[in-house]
Amino acid sequence: ALGGVCFFSEEMESGFTSRRLCFTRIKSAIANQGVVVLYQPQINPVSGDVEAVEALMRLRDDDGQLVSPVQFIGLAEETRLIIPLGEQMIRIALDQLGRWCDDGLHIRMCINISPVQFLDAHFLAAILKAIEACGVDPKLVELEVTESLMMKHLDSVRSDMQKLRALGVSISIDDFGTGFSSLSYLRELPVDVLKIDKAFVDPLRGDPSDDVLVRTVATLAKSIGVLSVAEGVETEEQARHLKDLGVSLLQGYHFSRPVPADQLNTRYSL
Ligand code: C2E
Ligand code: CA
Ligand code: CA
Ligand code: CA
Repeated sequence: ALGGVCFFSEEMESGFTSRRLCFTRIKSAIANQGVVVLYQPQINPVSGDVEAVEALMRLRDDDGQLVSPVQFIGLAEETRLIIPLGEQMIRIALDQLGRWCDDGLHIRMCINISPVQFLDAHFLAAILKAIEACGVDPKLVELEVTESLMMKHLDSVRSDMQKLRALGVSISIDDFGTGFSSLSYLRELPVDVLKIDKAFVDPLRGDPSDDVLVRTVATLAKSIGVLSVAEGVETEEQARHLKDLGVSLLQGYHFSRPVPADQLNTRYSL
């Protein structure tokens, strides 16, 4: 099952024991090739083409079950194990991107980067090395970062983003609008994509007043010349509505769940 098992079930001991267990499982996944990557397509609602995929991490448990990142990302960030975990994940995703390109499928690979990873002194060098080692076009690499990153160490974040941008790598702001940040950083940072959070997509149910927030972000994206991507699109009605609002790309269970690379469908009709 894609949801996988939970490291922390209600019956388990709370506190140190379960954190200890989670820690052990993360370490074991790093040591034993337990990092698994699933891919969820982002569809151009006008053409039906897949233009990008978001790479989503899972850990393979001892019994072969896939464990959701919701279960381990928090602890991985706290312990900084997100750095080796993220490195493996980046390597797998960029290798896959290389294989798709070899097969003539030139789509962008969107990779989630935790602030802990991005702010690590070796991150920039590591990602550039991985791009080179996998022989992929940096223009097909997109890094998804959150607003919380923007608030931290703005000068070093800006300088790293500018270096990435200079090489063609794009930057996407994940969960846009859910943070408490101001919009001013959009002028200060080289942002290419705004990802409209699922919370703004959920209320789309056919009532014209439902779309205030989505419409606002879509309009903002257009006016500053960046792409908009709606996540959590679950119904045909939402997909049509988002298409009518001019949202650039749509992502969600309505089109596809996150799937293994060989199960990716690359064309959809709306
Ligand atoms: P996110 O970046 O906001 O990713 C979107 C999440 O929504 C994914 O959950 C995806 O499977 C789920 N989703 C997509 N479409 C739908 C839909 O139509 N309906 C619903 N209900 N959900 C949908 P997932 O894969 O469990 O990932 C959860 C979070 O874990 C991600 O949220 C991201 O913050 C984090 N994460 C995942 N992979 C990585 C990674 O490689 N590195 C880092 N640092 N974080 C990751
Ligand atoms: Ca994301
Ligand atoms: Ca998101
Ligand atoms: Ca989200």
